[in-house]
Amino acid sequence: MKVKGLSLLAVILVVLVFSAGFAWAGMAALQDEAAVALKQAMAKLDNPTDTQNLVCLTNAGYAMIDGEGTLSLCKTVRDICGVSADTGNILRVHTAFDAPLYFALAHKTGPDTLPLVLISQNGKAFAVSEPLDVYVKKGKSFEAFKSLGRYSFSVVSMVNGWANDFPEDLMQAALYHDHLCGGVSTGFLTVGYIKKHLPLSEGQQYTYIGAPAWCQDDYILTAMNLTPGKSGYRSMKFNWTDTWKTAEKAYTNLGGLVIRYDPKTEKGDATLLKFDWRRDDMIKFTNDPDMDWNGLKNPLLHVYYSRFYLANKDHPEKFLSVIATKSIDSQADLDRLVAMGANPLAEILGKRVSDVK
Ligand SMILES: [Zn+2]
Repeated sequence: MKVKGLSLLAVILVVLVFSAGFAWAGMAALQDEAAVALKQAMAKLDNPTDTQNLVCLTNAGYAMIDGEGTLSLCKTVRDICGVSADTGNILRVHTAFDAPLYFALAHKTGPDTLPLVLISQNGKAFAVSEPLDVYVKKGKSFEAFKSLGRYSFSVVSMVNGWANDFPEDLMQAALYHDHLCGGVSTGFLTVGYIKKHLPLSEGQQYTYIGAPAWCQDDYILTAMNLTPGKSGYRSMKFNWTDTWKTAEKAYTNLGGLVIRYDPKTEKGDATLLKFDWRRDDMIKFTNDPDMDWNGLKNPLLHVYYSRFYLANKDHPEKFLSVIATKSIDSQADLDRLVAMGANPLAEILGKRVSDVK
C-alpha cells in the first residue's frame, strides 16, 4: 500500500514536471494561454463590442519567450478582442527583449471612464487583474494604480493619452520611450518650434544635441528621425535643472542645441534653445487642489502635464525661445560643437564659472 502510494506520487510528480516544462513549448501553446487570458479580460470588461473604444497596450513583438519572438500574439489579440494595430487600437510598447510579456486592455466607456484589465506574464502563466478605472481626473490617487505593478506608469500614462486622442506621432514616440510622461510631451513643442522657426535651407541637415537631454529627446529623435546611429543626435550630461553660469551671466531653463549644417558648403548655424515649463500655468490649467505636484514619479502629474502641453500645441513660442545663436563657417567650427572632447555649451555661452581658471 505504502509502495503503491509512493509510485502514484512519483507519477504525479513526473506529470507535473512534464506539463510545467512543456506548457509553453512553442508559439501555439503560448497563443492558447494568451487567448484564455484575453477572453477572461474581455469578460471582466463585459465583453465590449464597440471595438473603436477598446485598446490593447502590449510589449508583444519586443518581449521574447524561450528565444522566440512574440509579435504573432497581436493576431491573437485581434482575433479575441476585435482590435487592430492599423486603427491604433493595438499599441506596442517598447521593452527589453527579456522583460515579462503583458497586455493591458482598456475600454473607454465614457468621456472620463476607462476601466482596464492587466494581463501579465507570471512565470509560465498569465495573471489577469480585476478591472480598474485608470482615467486620470480629480479625486484619483496613484495609490490605486500601484496594484498594476511595474507597468503602472507606462500603462496609465499611455492609455490616458490614447483616450485623449493624442496625435499619432506623440503616441509613437511615447511607445518608443515606454511611457507618456510630461517630458516626452515637451518634445512635441520643441519640434513644433524647430520646424516653425528653424527650418532647413536647401542642402542643410539637422543635428540635435541633447545638452541638456530629457525625456523629450526620445520624441525629437523619433519624430525627426535624428538617431544616434546616423549621427543626427548626440547627447551630453547636463541636467535640465542645472544653471550654466559664466563670468557675465547665469543661464537657466536650457533646452537643447539645434544645428543646421550643409556638409558641402560647410556652412550653417547652431541655436541654443530655452525651455520654460510654465509650471504655474499648468497647475492653474489642471485645477486640482489636492494634487501633489512634487511626486515626479506619479503618473497622474504626467498625464496632467501632457494634457496642458497638448492644449498649447499650436503655440510652442509660449514655452520655447532662443538663448543664443552661433554661425558655423567650416568643418572645424562644427567639430568644436560635436567632435570628441567638444563642449558645445562653453562654445556658445562661454566658459562656465567653475571651469574658468
Ligand atoms: Zn519619461
